[in-house]
Amino acid sequence: MSHQTIVIGAGLAGLSAAYELVRAGFDVQVFEARPRVGGRAHTVQLNAGQYGELGAEFVDDNHTALITYATELGIQLDPACKFPDDLYWFIDGMLHNRMSLTEEQSSALDNLYAKLQSLLEEQKDPQQTLDEWLNVQPIAPFARRIARWLASSLFATDPELIGIGFFAYLAGIGNRGCNMRIRGGVSRLADALAKHLGNRIHTRTPVRCIQQIDDTVSVSVETPSGLVEVVAHSVIVTLPWSVLRHISIEAPLIDAQREAISSLAYGGVVKTLLQYPHRFWSKPNFGIVLLEGEYQAIWEPTFAQMGTEKILSCFSGGTRSLKLCEQAGDLALAAVHTVYPNAPKIIASRSHDWSADEWARGAYCYFRPGDLHRFDPHLTPPAGRIFFAGEHTAPVEYRGYMEGAIRSGQRAVQQILNLLSV
Ligand SMILES: Cc1cc2nc3c(=O)[nH]c(=O)nc-3n(C[C@H](O)[C@H](O)[C@H](O)COP(=O)(O)OP(=O)(O)OC[C@H]3O[C@@H](n4cnc5c(N)ncnc54)[C@H](O)[C@@H]3O)c2cc1C
Repeated sequence: MSHQTIVIGAGLAGLSAAYELVRAGFDVQVFEARPRVGGRAHTVQLNAGQYGELGAEFVDDNHTALITYATELGIQLDPACKFPDDLYWFIDGMLHNRMSLTEEQSSALDNLYAKLQSLLEEQKDPQQTLDEWLNVQPIAPFARRIARWLASSLFATDPELIGIGFFAYLAGIGNRGCNMRIRGGVSRLADALAKHLGNRIHTRTPVRCIQQIDDTVSVSVETPSGLVEVVAHSVIVTLPWSVLRHISIEAPLIDAQREAISSLAYGGVVKTLLQYPHRFWSKPNFGIVLLEGEYQAIWEPTFAQMGTEKILSCFSGGTRSLKLCEQAGDLALAAVHTVYPNAPKIIASRSHDWSADEWARGAYCYFRPGDLHRFDPHLTPPAGRIFFAGEHTAPVEYRGYMEGAIRSGQRAVQQILNLLSV
């Protein structure tokens, strides 16, 4: 009998794990709560055949695991932004990028990145938030402002919450060259992986309980006819821990693992897509515009799409995103108007609040002061026959990315193969 494995969650971590397990000849079943696969990778169609992303969107050029899958599955990537040229800050009513900053502002930013780089090299995780660190460092006000801004627009949290040890990974991001988008949308990648898995995937089937009994694992899934027990030799759990902490796990988890599952922090994001009848900004690909307010970033996802209609993606991160509620659409319009006062009326819009999503309960993980060192040893070890994957369990530089989800799924499969070869 071949080794039976259950994968919980059909986001990119679960799909990659299942894809690799099938390649290795395993008997796999995937249980997914939503009616669709992809999880936090979710493309939606708007008018005129155009699409936007409510969740993940950009692929960095060092995201090699994702790029390899895309190539294997015949999925194209389109160029999106080049850094630093395409990153703009809306400051005092004007758009600035690295080239238009004063010498003083530029050296303030260089100083910030250099300090973050040395923190990264020291591999420390001080008991300090970004806010506390900025208050004691000789960093110019301009660079402080940008750093605070990046906490919400990139890490989806607040400077008063994120640990400086984790924020320092920004230094690496600051050096990145360019990013890309998946042609047709990120859901194409999830759908292509799912196609290989066929009827091994069970959607609308939430897992309610995980239990290890001797050398087998039993998973209780909710079906239209009630709870059903499914038994396997091993389980890969890919749920965000913000969700997993609400599910009963009876398994040899050590206290530190239970502590990490119950308290790993997740940032909040509301993403709003606004579709306009035409492009009203001057530069065709205006890159990413960072602004202060309820929404902290705006960009155009339709740059490489056909049609005169154009979409703007508006990103609100951190605790501010938690307060938008039904006003999300109006506040996104107001944010666009701040930068482009002559914006015409929209023709369509879509919005998603990831903190209010019961199968995500947050956008992606971040680490509070000291948590990086406290939780890191407990993110990837299996608990008996239960293996963990998901972006939060990826190597730190890939956490919060599709790349992290894919790598974590592949790593969990390798852990099972290692167990079986002993
Ligand atoms: C707004 C936003 C913007 C982002 N932007 C980017 C970006 O530009 N680039 C990038 O690379 N990444 C980005 N990310 C991050 C990226 O989306 C994630 O890192 C990645 O998709 C996570 O994949 P995962 O498989 O780990 O988790 P998920 O995609 O969350 O998969 C977990 C799955 O488990 C399912 N599930 C939950 N509970 C249960 C249950 N009880 N039973 C069964 N199934 C369950 C969920 O429905 C979900 O499908 C963004 C994320 C968000 C939210």
